[in-house]
Amino acid sequence: MSHIFCVANQKGGVGKTTTSVNLAAALHQSGQRTLLVDLDPQGNGTMGSGIDKRKLEHSVYHLLVGLGKLEAVRVVSPSGGYDVLPANRDLAGAEIELVNLERREKRLRETLYKCVADYDFVLIDCPPSLSLLTLNGLCAAHGVIIPMQCEYYALEGLSDLVNSIKKVHANLNHDLKIIGLLRVMFDPRITLQQQVSAQLESHFGDKVFRAVVPRNIRLAEAPSHGMPGVVFDRSSRGAQAYLAFANELIERVKTL
Ligand code: ADP
Ligand code: MG
Repeated sequence: MSHIFCVANQKGGVGKTTTSVNLAAALHQSGQRTLLVDLDPQGNGTMGSGIDKRKLEHSVYHLLVGLGKLEAVRVVSPSGGYDVLPANRDLAGAEIELVNLERREKRLRETLYKCVADYDFVLIDCPPSLSLLTLNGLCAAHGVIIPMQCEYYALEGLSDLVNSIKKVHANLNHDLKIIGLLRVMFDPRITLQQQVSAQLESHFGDKVFRAVVPRNIRLAEAPSHGMPGVVFDRSSRGAQAYLAFANELIERVKTL
Protein backbone atom coordinates (compact mmCIF):
# COMPACT_ATOMS: atom_id res chain seq x y z
CA MET A 1 0.00 0.00 0.00
CA SER A 2 1.25 3.48 -0.75
CA HIS A 3 1.31 6.24 1.81
CA ILE A 4 0.57 9.81 0.77
CA PHE A 5 1.75 12.32 3.34
CA CYS A 6 1.61 16.10 3.41
CA VAL A 7 4.47 17.93 5.06
CA ALA A 8 2.53 20.90 6.38
CA ASN A 9 2.71 23.83 8.75
CA GLN A 10 1.14 27.17 7.87
CA LYS A 11 4.21 29.01 9.15
CA GLY A 12 7.02 29.77 6.72
CA GLY A 13 10.63 28.85 7.34
CA VAL A 14 9.89 26.04 9.79
CA GLY A 15 11.61 23.28 7.82
CA LYS A 16 8.84 21.85 5.61
CA THR A 17 10.90 21.80 2.46
CA THR A 18 14.08 20.63 4.18
CA THR A 19 12.07 17.81 5.73
CA SER A 20 10.32 16.89 2.45
CA VAL A 21 13.52 16.79 0.41
CA ASN A 22 15.63 14.95 2.96
CA LEU A 23 12.90 12.49 3.83
CA ALA A 24 12.33 11.75 0.13
CA ALA A 25 16.04 11.13 -0.39
CA ALA A 26 16.39 9.04 2.77
CA LEU A 27 13.36 6.90 1.86
CA HIS A 28 14.74 6.43 -1.64
CA GLN A 29 18.08 5.33 -0.17
CA SER A 30 16.17 2.79 1.96
CA GLY A 31 14.75 1.25 -1.21
CA GLN A 32 11.31 2.88 -0.94
CA ARG A 33 9.77 4.01 -4.21
CA THR A 34 9.25 7.71 -3.48
CA LEU A 35 7.61 10.70 -5.16
CA LEU A 36 8.02 14.29 -3.98
CA VAL A 37 5.25 16.69 -4.97
CA ASP A 38 6.27 20.34 -4.80
CA LEU A 39 3.10 22.24 -3.96
CA ASP A 40 4.78 25.56 -3.17
CA PRO A 41 5.08 28.25 -5.90
CA GLN A 42 8.48 29.14 -4.39
CA GLY A 43 9.77 25.89 -5.90
CA ASN A 44 12.34 25.37 -3.16
CA GLY A 45 11.72 21.63 -3.04
CA THR A 46 12.26 21.50 -6.80
CA MET A 47 15.56 23.43 -6.65
CA GLY A 48 16.70 21.50 -3.58
CA SER A 49 16.17 18.30 -5.57
CA GLY A 50 18.56 19.58 -8.24
CA ILE A 51 15.87 20.53 -10.77
CA ASP A 52 15.97 24.03 -12.26
CA LYS A 53 12.52 25.53 -11.70
CA ARG A 54 13.17 28.23 -14.32
CA LYS A 55 13.53 25.64 -17.07
CA LEU A 56 10.33 23.68 -16.49
CA GLU A 57 8.01 23.34 -19.45
CA HIS A 58 5.39 21.56 -17.41
CA SER A 59 4.85 21.60 -13.68
CA VAL A 60 2.35 20.78 -10.96
CA TYR A 61 0.45 23.86 -12.10
CA HIS A 62 -0.38 22.19 -15.42
CA LEU A 63 -1.62 19.08 -13.62
CA LEU A 64 -3.87 21.01 -11.27
CA VAL A 65 -5.55 23.12 -13.93
CA GLY A 66 -5.82 20.21 -16.37
CA LEU A 67 -3.32 21.43 -18.96
CA GLY A 68 -0.70 18.72 -18.72
CA LYS A 69 -0.14 15.01 -18.50
CA LEU A 70 1.65 13.33 -15.64
CA GLU A 71 4.33 11.85 -17.90
CA ALA A 72 5.21 15.34 -19.12
CA VAL A 73 5.61 16.70 -15.61
CA ARG A 74 7.26 13.89 -13.67
CA VAL A 75 11.07 14.02 -13.47
CA VAL A 76 13.74 12.19 -11.50
CA SER A 77 15.82 14.17 -9.00
CA PRO A 78 19.36 13.88 -10.40
CA SER A 79 20.89 14.22 -6.95
CA GLY A 80 18.28 12.48 -4.79
CA GLY A 81 17.12 9.64 -7.04
CA TYR A 82 13.43 9.97 -6.15
CA ASP A 83 10.73 11.16 -8.56
CA VAL A 84 9.48 14.76 -8.45
CA LEU A 85 6.43 16.65 -9.62
CA PRO A 86 8.17 20.04 -9.74
CA ALA A 87 6.79 23.53 -9.28
CA ASN A 88 7.62 27.15 -9.92
CA ARG A 89 5.89 30.53 -9.84
CA ASP A 90 3.24 29.36 -12.31
CA LEU A 91 1.66 27.55 -9.39
CA ALA A 92 0.72 30.86 -7.78
CA GLY A 93 -1.70 31.32 -10.68
CA ALA A 94 -3.36 28.00 -9.97
CA GLU A 95 -4.57 29.39 -6.67
CA ILE A 96 -6.70 31.90 -8.58
CA GLU A 97 -7.65 29.74 -11.56
CA LEU A 98 -8.76 26.83 -9.39
CA VAL A 99 -11.43 28.90 -7.70
CA ASN A 100 -13.59 28.68 -10.81
CA LEU A 101 -12.99 24.99 -11.52
CA GLU A 102 -15.09 22.06 -10.39
CA ARG A 103 -13.84 19.90 -7.52
CA ARG A 104 -11.22 22.55 -7.02
CA GLU A 105 -9.89 21.05 -3.78
CA LYS A 106 -9.66 17.52 -5.23
CA ARG A 107 -7.45 18.30 -8.24
CA LEU A 108 -4.24 16.92 -6.79
CA ARG A 109 -6.01 13.88 -5.42
CA GLU A 110 -7.31 13.03 -8.89
CA THR A 111 -3.85 13.47 -10.38
CA LEU A 112 -2.17 11.27 -7.80
CA TYR A 113 -4.71 8.46 -8.30
CA LYS A 114 -3.07 7.90 -11.67
CA CYS A 115 0.39 7.20 -10.28
CA VAL A 116 0.05 6.26 -6.64
CA ALA A 117 0.51 2.56 -7.40
CA ASP A 118 4.05 3.34 -8.61
CA TYR A 119 5.13 4.40 -5.11
CA ASP A 120 5.55 3.33 -1.50
CA PHE A 121 5.63 6.96 -0.35
CA VAL A 122 4.31 10.18 -1.85
CA LEU A 123 5.41 13.32 0.04
CA ILE A 124 3.70 16.64 -0.60
CA ASP A 125 5.70 19.76 0.30
CA CYS A 126 2.99 22.31 1.17
CA PRO A 127 3.19 26.11 0.96
CA PRO A 128 3.24 28.20 4.16
CA SER A 129 -0.48 28.92 4.32
CA LEU A 130 -3.82 27.24 4.71
CA SER A 131 -4.64 28.09 1.10
CA LEU A 132 -6.43 26.22 -1.66
CA LEU A 133 -3.09 24.66 -2.59
CA THR A 134 -2.59 23.29 0.92
CA LEU A 135 -6.21 22.14 0.88
CA ASN A 136 -5.44 20.18 -2.30
CA GLY A 137 -2.55 18.57 -0.45
CA LEU A 138 -4.68 17.70 2.57
CA CYS A 139 -7.45 16.26 0.39
CA ALA A 140 -4.97 14.05 -1.47
CA ALA A 141 -3.19 12.69 1.61
CA HIS A 142 -3.63 9.90 4.12
CA GLY A 143 -1.71 11.78 6.73
CA VAL A 144 0.17 14.89 7.77
CA ILE A 145 3.72 15.21 9.00
CA ILE A 146 4.16 18.47 10.91
CA PRO A 147 7.69 19.83 11.23
CA MET A 148 7.99 22.36 14.00
CA GLN A 149 10.49 24.45 15.87
CA CYS A 150 10.28 24.31 19.62
CA GLU A 151 9.47 27.98 20.10
CA TYR A 152 7.08 29.87 22.30
CA TYR A 153 4.41 30.43 19.63
CA ALA A 154 4.77 27.00 18.06
CA LEU A 155 1.98 25.45 20.12
CA GLU A 156 -0.43 28.25 19.24
CA GLY A 157 0.21 27.81 15.52
CA LEU A 158 -0.16 24.10 15.93
CA SER A 159 -3.72 24.37 17.21
CA ASP A 160 -4.76 26.30 14.06
CA LEU A 161 -3.27 23.58 11.91
CA VAL A 162 -4.83 20.78 13.94
CA ASN A 163 -8.23 22.48 13.63
CA SER A 164 -7.85 22.76 9.85
CA ILE A 165 -6.88 19.11 9.64
CA LYS A 166 -9.97 18.18 11.69
CA LYS A 167 -12.21 20.18 9.35
CA VAL A 168 -10.75 18.55 6.27
CA HIS A 169 -11.10 15.16 7.94
CA ALA A 170 -14.77 15.80 8.74
CA ASN A 171 -15.83 17.35 5.44
CA LEU A 172 -13.53 16.35 2.63
CA ASN A 173 -11.17 13.49 3.44
CA HIS A 174 -12.04 10.87 6.07
CA ASP A 175 -8.67 9.16 5.57
CA LEU A 176 -6.71 12.13 6.86
CA LYS A 177 -4.85 11.84 10.13
CA ILE A 178 -1.86 13.34 11.85
CA ILE A 179 1.05 10.97 11.41
CA GLY A 180 3.34 12.86 13.71
CA LEU A 181 5.17 15.97 14.83
CA LEU A 182 8.82 16.32 13.94
CA ARG A 183 11.01 18.60 16.01
CA VAL A 184 13.39 20.44 13.68
CA MET A 185 16.17 23.04 13.98
CA PHE A 186 16.45 21.88 17.55
CA ASP A 187 19.07 23.39 19.82
CA PRO A 188 19.24 21.52 23.15
CA ARG A 189 21.31 24.31 24.71
CA ILE A 190 18.27 26.60 24.69
CA THR A 191 16.17 25.96 27.78
CA LEU A 192 12.97 27.23 26.17
CA GLN A 193 13.36 24.69 23.37
CA GLN A 194 13.73 21.88 25.89
CA GLN A 195 10.62 23.09 27.70
CA VAL A 196 8.50 23.32 24.54
CA SER A 197 9.81 19.92 23.44
CA ALA A 198 8.75 18.39 26.79
CA GLN A 199 5.34 20.09 26.47
CA LEU A 200 4.88 18.60 23.02
CA GLU A 201 5.67 15.14 24.34
CA SER A 202 3.23 15.46 27.21
CA HIS A 203 0.42 16.84 24.97
CA PHE A 204 0.91 14.62 21.96
CA GLY A 205 2.64 11.52 23.35
CA ASP A 206 3.43 8.96 20.65
CA LYS A 207 2.52 11.46 17.94
CA VAL A 208 5.89 13.12 18.52
CA PHE A 209 8.55 11.38 16.47
CA ARG A 210 11.53 10.17 18.49
CA ALA A 211 13.93 11.48 15.85
CA VAL A 212 14.89 15.11 16.49
CA VAL A 213 16.53 17.17 13.74
CA PRO A 214 19.21 19.50 15.15
CA ARG A 215 20.03 22.92 13.78
CA ASN A 216 22.81 22.01 11.39
CA ILE A 217 24.47 24.24 8.82
CA ARG A 218 25.08 21.37 6.38
CA LEU A 219 21.31 21.01 5.91
CA ALA A 220 21.07 24.70 5.08
CA GLU A 221 24.01 24.57 2.66
CA ALA A 222 22.81 21.56 0.69
CA PRO A 223 20.05 23.30 -1.37
CA SER A 224 22.55 25.70 -2.96
CA HIS A 225 24.27 22.61 -4.37
CA GLY A 226 20.94 21.25 -5.63
CA MET A 227 21.21 18.33 -3.24
CA PRO A 228 19.32 16.92 -0.28
CA GLY A 229 21.40 17.17 2.90
CA VAL A 230 21.49 13.38 3.24
CA VAL A 231 23.32 13.27 -0.11
CA PHE A 232 25.42 16.42 0.28
CA ASP A 233 26.93 15.39 3.62
CA ARG A 234 25.58 12.08 4.79
CA SER A 235 27.70 12.00 7.93
CA SER A 236 26.51 15.40 9.21
CA ARG A 237 24.32 15.40 12.31
CA GLY A 238 21.41 16.85 10.37
CA ALA A 239 21.60 14.17 7.70
CA GLN A 240 21.89 11.42 10.28
CA ALA A 241 18.76 12.72 11.99
CA TYR A 242 16.77 12.62 8.74
CA LEU A 243 18.02 9.10 8.02
CA ALA A 244 16.85 8.04 11.49
CA PHE A 245 13.53 9.80 10.89
CA ALA A 246 13.00 7.91 7.62
CA ASN A 247 13.57 4.59 9.41
CA GLU A 248 11.19 5.60 12.16
CA LEU A 249 8.53 6.53 9.59
CA ILE A 250 8.94 3.21 7.77
CA GLU A 251 8.32 1.48 11.12
CA ARG A 252 5.42 3.75 12.03
CA VAL A 253 3.46 3.17 8.84
CA LYS A 254 3.40 -0.56 9.60
CA THR A 255 1.16 0.26 12.56
CA LEU A 256 -1.27 2.52 10.65
P1 ADP B 1 9.79 25.98 4.95
O1 ADP B 1 9.72 25.05 3.79
O2 ADP B 1 8.91 25.56 6.09
O3 ADP B 1 9.57 27.40 4.57
P2 ADP B 1 12.65 25.45 4.89
O4 ADP B 1 12.81 23.98 4.91
O5 ADP B 1 12.80 26.14 3.57
O6 ADP B 1 11.28 25.89 5.57
O7 ADP B 1 13.69 26.05 5.94
C1 ADP B 1 13.83 27.44 6.16
C2 ADP B 1 15.32 27.78 6.23
O8 ADP B 1 15.92 27.10 7.32
C3 ADP B 1 16.08 27.33 4.99
O9 ADP B 1 17.07 28.29 4.71
C4 ADP B 1 16.72 26.01 5.41
O10 ADP B 1 17.91 25.75 4.72
C5 ADP B 1 16.97 26.26 6.89
N1 ADP B 1 16.90 25.01 7.68
C6 ADP B 1 15.90 24.10 7.69
N2 ADP B 1 16.14 23.11 8.56
C7 ADP B 1 17.34 23.40 9.13
C8 ADP B 1 18.15 22.77 10.15
N3 ADP B 1 17.77 21.63 10.74
N4 ADP B 1 19.31 23.36 10.47
C9 ADP B 1 19.70 24.51 9.89
N5 ADP B 1 19.00 25.16 8.96
C10 ADP B 1 17.82 24.62 8.57
MG1 MG C 1 9.10 25.42 1.82
